[in-house]
Amino acid sequence: MAVLKKVFLKRGKDQALARRHPWVFSGAIARTEGNPTNGDLVNVFSAEGKPLATGFFSLGSIAIRLVAFDAIEPNPAFWQDILAKAVNYRKLLGLLNNKQTNVFRLFNAEGDGIPGLVIDYYNGVAVMQCHTEGTYLIRPILVQALQNLLGKQLTAVYDKSVEALNIKGKNDYLFAAEKPTLPHTVTENGHSFLVDWETGQKTGFFIDQRNNRQVLSQYTAGKKVLNTFCYTGGFSVYAGQNAALVHSVDSSAKAVALADQNIALNNPKAPHQSYVADVFEFFRDSTERYDVMVLDPPAFAKNLHARHNALMAYKRLNAEAFKRIAPSGIVFTFSCSGVVDRNLFEGAVLAGAIEANRNVKIIAQLGPPQCHPVNIFHPEGNYLKGLILYVE
Ligand code: SAH
Repeated sequence: MAVLKKVFLKRGKDQALARRHPWVFSGAIARTEGNPTNGDLVNVFSAEGKPLATGFFSLGSIAIRLVAFDAIEPNPAFWQDILAKAVNYRKLLGLLNNKQTNVFRLFNAEGDGIPGLVIDYYNGVAVMQCHTEGTYLIRPILVQALQNLLGKQLTAVYDKSVEALNIKGKNDYLFAAEKPTLPHTVTENGHSFLVDWETGQKTGFFIDQRNNRQVLSQYTAGKKVLNTFCYTGGFSVYAGQNAALVHSVDSSAKAVALADQNIALNNPKAPHQSYVADVFEFFRDSTERYDVMVLDPPAFAKNLHARHNALMAYKRLNAEAFKRIAPSGIVFTFSCSGVVDRNLFEGAVLAGAIEANRNVKIIAQLGPPQCHPVNIFHPEGNYLKGLILYVE
């Protein structure tokens, strides 16, 4: 049997595990053996000593993040098997060797079986983000597994964990057949994008909006479009193909500079103008009547304590958009706050419609693309919610 450190649950606290939820909270733990600390792999036992699971230990309220519902001792083959399932699933989606789209999420944490591990694929380069000490410690094993699984399709692996873990240290390449020059060009639904994972936000690009960008272009032909919180211009590039006018707003000058380059790369003649500004100030000062608006703010609530204020911010943002949009307008509105579920989000949008005194209809619900699978036992993974609204 395994020689991992041991965690024994309180009586009855194995219920969540029976429902295959991948987290164990610190309050469920009766005692430990071997003094486990941040990042250790541990075996989990019931109060009666029955072996239940294996996971990464953390010194926090989520004390263990499970990787197996079995008391095992993971070896490199175990990790490679999990990554292989994720790679095979992306193959099934047609995302490997795809000329139209070579940017996708290769590994989506709980959704793919290793909580805390995100790997995004950017046309040959994997950008890895470890959100837990445990996943950070096994990086060499993960890199080797990726090389074994992807072969020549993998030209480099970049580790972008320092910000996510809030640790000292340096983000760097863990493998590079040839060091990429940045920004790196990727293709999404046939559109080109420049991505800089070293200086960009998250792993460099918001891959989770791929399908929604495509859907937007069905509504933008000949229209005046405002893309708020535009980052590097994802939605703007799609709208720029057929809209009469596209305005992009973001508070990050660096992001906006890349948005301008992305527009130029795809359609230099696009009627596009970008603004480095706070979105709320932009709304206050703008006199333009837009037909289509995109509202894709950063996560207003990072934890439960921030949830109330976040809901007020979603309400205010949506109200500002409703007050200004032209009659028969279309609003794409999003929330990526994990602690704000779809019902709460729709409630905040509804409150915004009341405040703006406009008639608003929900015409579609939106979410992330298929490369962001959600573990059905872990509803917390359902972070991205969106609506397409028709504003009379
Ligand atoms: N829609 C984008 C992703 C948005 S991420 C895409 O498809 O790629 C959220 C963005 O909001 C970030 O670029 C961040 O710089 C910007 N941001 C955060 N607060 C802001 C504010 N108050 N006003 C304007 N932009 C803001």
